[in-house]
Amino acid sequence: MARSETLPVLLRQLRLSTMARLWEPFLARAEEERWDPAQYLAALCEHELNERHSRRIARFTKESRLPVGKTLATFDFGQTPTIQAKKIEAMAQNSDWVRRAENLLFFGPSGVGKTHLAAAISHGLIEQSIRVRHFTTTALVQEMQQARADLRLENFLAKLDKYAVIVLDDLGYVRKSEAETHVLFELIAHRYETGSIIITSNQPFGEWDKIFTDASMTVAAIDRVVHHANIIEIQAESYRKRQAISHNCKSRPELAITAQIRKEDQ
Ligand code: ADP
Ligand code: MG
Repeated sequence: MARSETLPVLLRQLRLSTMARLWEPFLARAEEERWDPAQYLAALCEHELNERHSRRIARFTKESRLPVGKTLATFDFGQTPTIQAKKIEAMAQNSDWVRRAENLLFFGPSGVGKTHLAAAISHGLIEQSIRVRHFTTTALVQEMQQARADLRLENFLAKLDKYAVIVLDDLGYVRKSEAETHVLFELIAHRYETGSIIITSNQPFGEWDKIFTDASMTVAAIDRVVHHANIIEIQAESYRKRQAISHNCKSRPELAITAQIRKEDQ
């Protein structure tokens, strides 16, 4: 017969930290409310699972390096009527596309919410226990170049495999040079049909020959990226700019006229 005194130790050995913390207070409650033993055990298991889930989400959020606070809740779809809110919400709430290793591309001018939406969808995916890693593309390219110089690029790419989704933010800002774009191409080829990439870029495909050095590499990169891809083009005026104008209008009413004219121009 097992001895109840050993329970705290057994629970810790099994790494059931929530149960180890709660078994005693729950026991008092169980006696008071006349739970049967199975009910008591079920309540403890439920709390263990819930806390594990919360800890996992916190860990995944931290490792993702996503910009904080850029969620669907803070995105105002009314400001960007060309975006289909339903489609964005579906991609955040249903991760089937990630399981199919599809890509997601946001195109549009600066300040229209590409990074915000990429982060918002990523936060939604993390809630479903999907691991995401956000990169500024130029910084990642530099890291990959260093890895290649140290003969550990393969290893570096393999390490990224643990993330089901990689965000390449501002792909269009990568400067065209053979060494740089080659590592970027290797990353795209490495993840093809095995892991999702979310790309934000102010350059639509027609301009990608400015990113990759030669035409065949450009075509090969686009081919792989778009083969299984969802593409969202955002046409709007910069949110930052509109915010600045409306802020200025409040403090300097004479500017309101300019803002009004701009609005009518649209
Ligand atoms: P982009 O990546 O397209 O250059 P960002 O996503 O960085 O643009 O957006 C610029 C700023 O404006 C960010 O602070 C972002 O949170 C905010 N923003 C853009 N569009 C919206 C929107 N529709 N609702 C709320 N905030 C927005
Ligand atoms: Mg951006």
